[in-house]
Amino acid sequence: MKLWHVNTTARGGGVAEILDALCRFPQPESQLTHCRFVTSQNTDVFTATKRIHHRLHGVDRGGLPDEREHAVFLEFAEQNALRLLPRLAAQDTVLLHDPQTLPLAPILAEAGVPVAWRCHIGTAAINNVADETWQYLSRFWPPGITLIFSHQSLVPAQAAEHRVEIVPPSIDPASAKNELMSVTEIGDVLASVGLTGPRSAPVRHDHELVSEGRLGSDPVILQVSRWDPLKDMEGVLRAFAGSALHRSAQLVLCGPSPQSVADDPEAKTVLENVVRQWRGLPTAIRSRAHLVCTALDDEVGNARVVNALQRRAAVVAQRSVQEGFGLTVTEAMLKARPVVATRVGGIPSQIAHNETGLLLRGSAGDDEFSEAVDCLLNDTARASGLGRAAAAHAAQHFTTSREASDHRRIFAPSFHRNEERIG
Ligand code: UDP
Repeated sequence: MKLWHVNTTARGGGVAEILDALCRFPQPESQLTHCRFVTSQNTDVFTATKRIHHRLHGVDRGGLPDEREHAVFLEFAEQNALRLLPRLAAQDTVLLHDPQTLPLAPILAEAGVPVAWRCHIGTAAINNVADETWQYLSRFWPPGITLIFSHQSLVPAQAAEHRVEIVPPSIDPASAKNELMSVTEIGDVLASVGLTGPRSAPVRHDHELVSEGRLGSDPVILQVSRWDPLKDMEGVLRAFAGSALHRSAQLVLCGPSPQSVADDPEAKTVLENVVRQWRGLPTAIRSRAHLVCTALDDEVGNARVVNALQRRAAVVAQRSVQEGFGLTVTEAMLKARPVVATRVGGIPSQIAHNETGLLLRGSAGDDEFSEAVDCLLNDTARASGLGRAAAAHAAQHFTTSREASDHRRIFAPSFHRNEERIG
């Protein structure tokens, strides 16, 4: 049987990464094969669903879809359901991802297709904004739907009537993003982006670099994230510039070029703000902070840049204001990097404080963040101990094989039980 994963973007962001990995993963005896269906692109829908995304994190950046947007949303769902339905065989199940695709659920259920919805985002701290948004979304849950969340704390009250499953997101250790790289390969990739090497060297790549200096041999602090206000790239740059961190280390902020991510209309503005902030820094600090915009169209190129940066980093930051579950955190952990992250959303289920990384209060200010990073830069034994523990934990709990097994348990339970008996 096939499990059809439906989402809105072929690449860009964590969901696309997970789905690619699941589709590539060897499926024992083809009992459950994963395949993808990417919806059409619709800016009106993505603008409204980006607001929904923020609201599920409790942040009000505009209301719920108004009547017109709601109608456009339904039309979008109908058009895509009509494209998908002829491709489904009798045994197939559809797993919709995130709010953008949710309105397909009642249409597919009506057509007799078993349907599940996986929400990769959310907050444990439900406020009125988040609650009102769950009310809106829950109207699209047909009877019999399976709801999947990344962590128990992210399950909203409205889900109580339905079958709920927990599946922590995973990464693929064999992918170009995570495979081992030699020191030479890392050096070559960083030089090709223009972060190292002679100033006059031509830069051979499609990625954009906003930088006036070179990394040299300094320790690197890294945050890899979409240019999204909830990732707080601005906060990382501000803390770096406003503390002693810039004296001993350099900073790299890496995110996808805004043109690369169709369903993220805010990225351009966030990046412009960070670039403005960077331009306003004193020259000496500015030359030690670097902004990399990856071209996601160059799938392998992007993956290798992220991989090389994560392996080159002395400390990886994830200063998210909200986070369903940070794949960038898992990626850094698997590479044995010490991570300093905020204790928000699913991140505490990824990092045990002081065992597999450091967690900061969600409201931690710049000083607290800088102190935590500084402490790891100055105590390399502690940093590498945390990194090693992180790698062991991520390999055991957060890789594609574990996630593929979760899907067999949920969608092909009889096969999964046999497998467990044999195993
Ligand atoms: N990513 C990337 N290139 C970039 C920035 C991010 O490939 O320039 C990837 C990153 O490696 C991770 C995903 O995008 O796999 C982000 O997933 P995460 O769960 O951290 O955040 P999301 O974007 O889903 O909110």
